[in-house]
Amino acid sequence: MISLKNIHKSYVTGTNSLHVLKGINLEVAEGELVAIMGSSGSGKSTLLNIIGMLDTYDEGDYRLEGQLIRNMSEKRVARFRNSHIGFVFQSFNLISFKNAMENVALPLYYRNIHRKKRNQVAMELLEKMGLSEWAEHMPNELSGGQQQRIAIARALVSRPKVILADEPTGALDSQTSYEVMDLFREINQSGITILIVTHENDIAHMTGRIIRLHDGDIVTDEINGIRRKQPVLQTLTH
Ligand code: ADP
Ligand code: MG
Repeated sequence: MISLKNIHKSYVTGTNSLHVLKGINLEVAEGELVAIMGSSGSGKSTLLNIIGMLDTYDEGDYRLEGQLIRNMSEKRVARFRNSHIGFVFQSFNLISFKNAMENVALPLYYRNIHRKKRNQVAMELLEKMGLSEWAEHMPNELSGGQQQRIAIARALVSRPKVILADEPTGALDSQTSYEVMDLFREINQSGITILIVTHENDIAHMTGRIIRLHDGDIVTDEINGIRRKQPVLQTLTH
């Protein structure tokens, strides 16, 4: 599903160049639920943004469902992204002047689906997720947990194959975080591949696989607590 081979990324500002990803190799199979951990600045968001086609990379190969993601036009990138990927962010990123249902319906607007149909699809999804009572509420009338659930519904509405969540529980208390993780697990059980960036060990342990980044390298990769590779040694020697 997701295949990264020797991915490098640097950010260049003026005369400074910051090497943020230093040869990432990663395979994620369809249906996996993966946590990405690592200290602040280790490259987690950069990695997620490359996978989500929000950012480009300098070197290596990235394939999503076999399709090489490189040198694509803006238009093709947007189309591919909209049909394959849903995003969830720490700060929910709901549009403040639209109600919950309209927020959920928004990705369908970019697919040229007319308003009545958009709202109908959004409403059906909210009902399925047990959120229909919030449909008419504005984001500022909702708790953090409710807002994040609405944001997750918005990520789901265009039936993506992959959900990418960047610290989705970072702004939530632990009880609410667990509820949001339960929702991700349910979504994952329906077959959607999910990658979640998190700082919290207990959140990471609610997934099936934990990848740890350090200074732009993958240092450990554990499936259900079983370490499958030990690239730490490689990192120390190169
Ligand atoms: P994380 O999500 O693990 O905290 P990031 O991927 O956001 O890490 O950032 C990795 C490093 O790259 C940090 O040092 C950050 O300051 C830098 N960085 C991130 N985005 C940019 C950017 N657009 N321009 C310049 N530097 C950036
Ligand atoms: Mg980050």
